[in-house]
Amino acid sequence: MNGTRIREQEDVVAGTVGDDVMTVHELLQVGETLRPKCGAGKSKDQAVQWLRVVNCPACLAGEE
Ligand SMILES: [Zn+2]
Repeated sequence: MNGTRIREQEDVVAGTVGDDVMTVHELLQVGETLRPKCGAGKSKDQAVQWLRVVNCPACLAGEE
């Protein structure tokens, strides 16, 4: 039975990218760096991990 799908919150890395500290993205480990799931920011923008809830609409929309 696979009717229930439980999201494993501990696996979610959230954080901000570049100068925008208001939008918290879901971050994915890409190589040695963290990148926002929605692709926000420029490639040179540093992603900073926060212990905050993801609030980026684009990242949240990517949830299945
Ligand atoms: Zn995002």
